[in-house]
Amino acid sequence: MAEKTLNPFEIVQHQIKEACDALKLEPAVFEILKQPMRCLEVNYPVTMDDGSIKVFTGFRSQHNDAVGPTKGGIRFHPGVYVDEVKALSMWMTFKCAVLGLPYGGGKGGVICNPKGLSAREIEEVSRGWIRAVSQIVGPEKDIPAPDVYTNPQIMAWMVDEFSKIREQNSFGLMTGKPLIIGGSAGRGEATARGCVTVALAAAKKMGINVKGARVAVQGFGNAGSVAARLMYDAGAKIIAVNDSRGGAYNPDGFDPNAILAYKEKNGTVKGYPGTKDISSGDLLTLDCDILIPAALENQLTSANAGSVKAKIVAEAANGPTTPEADATLRSKGILVIPDILANAGGVTVSYFEWVQNLANFYWTEEEVNTKLEQMMLRSFDAVWNMHDAQNCSMRQAAYLVAVDRVAQAMRVRGWLK
Ligand code: GLU
Repeated sequence: MAEKTLNPFEIVQHQIKEACDALKLEPAVFEILKQPMRCLEVNYPVTMDDGSIKVFTGFRSQHNDAVGPTKGGIRFHPGVYVDEVKALSMWMTFKCAVLGLPYGGGKGGVICNPKGLSAREIEEVSRGWIRAVSQIVGPEKDIPAPDVYTNPQIMAWMVDEFSKIREQNSFGLMTGKPLIIGGSAGRGEATARGCVTVALAAAKKMGINVKGARVAVQGFGNAGSVAARLMYDAGAKIIAVNDSRGGAYNPDGFDPNAILAYKEKNGTVKGYPGTKDISSGDLLTLDCDILIPAALENQLTSANAGSVKAKIVAEAANGPTTPEADATLRSKGILVIPDILANAGGVTVSYFEWVQNLANFYWTEEEVNTKLEQMMLRSFDAVWNMHDAQNCSMRQAAYLVAVDRVAQAMRVRGWLK
């Protein structure tokens, strides 16, 4: 049976409704949370290298600022569309709420293919976007960060452009910046570190010994490659990884550091000596203990969820599991650590970065990692206890924790009467 392609905006509305109903909240909570409070579409011209003018379309969606300024990444991707950006901003609200961060959710996007642009064109697309949204962002209003195909250099250009508009350095505008202009130690590895922290906590709860536990990682980019290394350092056996060009599988395991060096030289993990190629689909259904989807949305679907053999799925990517697949995994007794908890390490260290910028006082990497681990474990426990008490999935539990926190803020601010 073909799975209906769900619009992510409809998926997140459904997730919010479920939580509002379970918590028996005032109807106004759902009415307020079911869409962003603001979503700006911008169209701006960029002079291309050949001298022509191209108009780029971008967005910034701000979902809810009841607990603090909005926060979330900006993605550069040809497939960006408004409902996706809105949904991602809504997921950010709940991601921040699960971690107890003083932020609401935001997300931005520009429809473009950065792989087909020169560095100068990417710089102009970046500066143009921040100019176009400058009225609604700022260190106390809405703080963007890296997301798909954006990086510290892009954050630096945006901070520079915004600082010119404001006529003062505004390092607190963006997070995920290069270290030299107020970036935080540990931000680059934070998403993977947070994900591995909660995956190991889940393994402990389920009686899985991490020493020798078999781990498969879909996507060997920033989050996936670091997650594989940290799992390996914890004693796990990495049996499969892949990237957009192919995969590498060896049931006896391999060293992810060596395969990273191989990928840096050859552009892909495929062909790494001693491993067999494996398709992305086959990787997801491998016999393993922990599966880490760290690539794209909608990877675990009704078509393959029935064949998943992992005991734990830790969602490093945003939205890798469809609602149908989620139900199937739960019925099979597989523990899914939802994206809004599993990949929240990135925004958590973004919060630390912003705090450091506002205080102008910088922390060591060790301090960052220790605080990150504490916050991830505290949030994991809150979600685990809710899932135990309510006998619901970890995803539903995370939404219960998150929606309740945002509702409390809206109630005390007088938005619900
Ligand atoms: N884009 C990342 C996410 O989806 C990080 C957001 C941030 O650091 O603000 O969580």
